[in-house]
Amino acid sequence: MPRKHYKKPAQQVKIAKNRINFLFQHAKEVFKEDSKFSDKYVKLARRIAMKYKIKLPSQLKKRFCKHCHKYLVPGVNCRVRLHKHRLIYYCFSCKHYMRHPVK
Ligand SMILES: [Zn+2]
Repeated sequence: MPRKHYKKPAQQVKIAKNRINFLFQHAKEVFKEDSKFSDKYVKLARRIAMKYKIKLPSQLKKRFCKHCHKYLVPGVNCRVRLHKHRLIYYCFSCKHYMRHPVK
């Protein structure tokens, strides 16, 4: 039977999505103890997302820096400002800004 090769099986994608959510949840939990572990979880989650070509939902995208891929906690290692209907995230570790539109 011919199969489409460009897409991963839906079941696998579903599992991958669950793993990504799980990793972000863990990143949040371990952040208080060791932020290095959070960064590792983000790295893993991103790798899974890339492998399965999963687009990360906006609420997860806001939780790590798109430049240095560190797990971000507002007020701890990043600053959040609202400017012209956009959320501006400023990462303390790489000193880069990220903009997220507000719906
Ligand atoms: Zn950064």
